[in-house]
Amino acid sequence: MGWSVAHHLARAGVRRILVVDRGGGSTERATGGFRAQFATEVNVRLSLLSRDKLLAFQDETGVDPGYHPAGYLFLAATEAQKRQLGAALEVQRACGSTDAAQVDVEDVRRLAPCIRTEGVVGGTFSSRDGFIRPLEIRRGYLESALRAGVERLDAEVTGLSRREGVLRVETSSGMHEAATVVNAAGAWAGSVGAMAGVEIPVTPLRRQVARTVPTSALAASTPMTIFADGFHFRVRDDHVLLLWPTDGGVDPFDVSVDPEWTARVAGAARERVPPLAEVAIASTYAGLYEMSPDEHALLGRAHGLEQLFLVNGSSGHGVMHAPALGQLAAEMLTGRRPSLDVHTLRPSRFAEGRPNPIRRLL
Ligand SMILES: Cc1cc2nc3c(=O)[nH]c(=O)nc-3n(C[C@H](O)[C@H](O)[C@H](O)COP(=O)(O)OP(=O)(O)OC[C@H]3O[C@@H](n4cnc5c(N)ncnc54)[C@H](O)[C@@H]3O)c2cc1C
Repeated sequence: MGWSVAHHLARAGVRRILVVDRGGGSTERATGGFRAQFATEVNVRLSLLSRDKLLAFQDETGVDPGYHPAGYLFLAATEAQKRQLGAALEVQRACGSTDAAQVDVEDVRRLAPCIRTEGVVGGTFSSRDGFIRPLEIRRGYLESALRAGVERLDAEVTGLSRREGVLRVETSSGMHEAATVVNAAGAWAGSVGAMAGVEIPVTPLRRQVARTVPTSALAASTPMTIFADGFHFRVRDDHVLLLWPTDGGVDPFDVSVDPEWTARVAGAARERVPPLAEVAIASTYAGLYEMSPDEHALLGRAHGLEQLFLVNGSSGHGVMHAPALGQLAAEMLTGRRPSLDVHTLRPSRFAEGRPNPIRRLL
């Protein structure tokens, strides 16, 4: 997110941009899913803008973002879930996207012949959703930004305070002053805000991942396949990634993997994806989602501190929305009209008591 903002600001002609990053964030752990199937208008529009930008990414940055539209298949287990997916399709259509459609069990068998369909009553599928390569997207924005003169400081921000109209940024490698600071600290955005006395309601949420041994058990064309209880999988290169969201642990920044979770996800894979029955799990890891209370990004000036601009809280969709949010942030920071109406993402919505309704696909 930070490198996307820096790239777009530099392209807009802003000079003297410094990106401070200690590394080790969530982007390195992301699954690489991209979708425009969302249940709220602003998220659909962010995805559509991002998709346009992914298609032009190589020209814009010189790097292939790996957009591979293998599809996203959401599976309903009840009629109510089917209706919920159908309602999301209406939202997508209202945004001009007719890519996704309702599918029946026969379609599911055709689209994902590797799964058992017991308990599946239908779903939705879009062939333009699919996969992206998070680290290549970051590399594209980073290298483009550096070429445009953006400076890089591999360091930790340890303090943030206001002083005579500017912000003082203390880091593990010296102090800097800036007219504006962009907080793109992902799951750690709240602690960076707290340094300046600003409450940013972004909290970490652990997401665990199991990675199989190299296998050709599933076709590379297999879509991201999401069961109604959250279990989902994708083929990445010659491995399969298995995920199953859980509630957070006691320590919200804990990224250890629970062995019971690993056993459960392996069992689900064996049962529901028969070609994986004999495919062992090679490794596991976990990373952090950056959750906002209404599961929508925060984009705009911080409530109570104008010089602090927030681009965070994407709630697990930050890689796919980084192209759009970086462009929008740069437009707003340079006083231009943003390409999308992003009023619903204003950070002040929580203080106003007007968060967005939470609408999930399943
Ligand atoms: C398992 C998993 C799967 C995911 N799958 C997907 C997916 O399929 N598609 C998708 O779009 N998203 C996915 N996500 C979410 C995605 O990873 C995040 O939304 C995205 O990476 C957020 O990008 P970011 O730049 O805001 O945060 P990050 O990548 O976390 O970058 C923030 C950076 O700020 C640094 N930082 C924080 N505090 C400080 C400080 N005080 N000083 C200096 N630096 C600091 C961090 O160390 C980090 O390097 C997934 C996440 C996980 C964990």
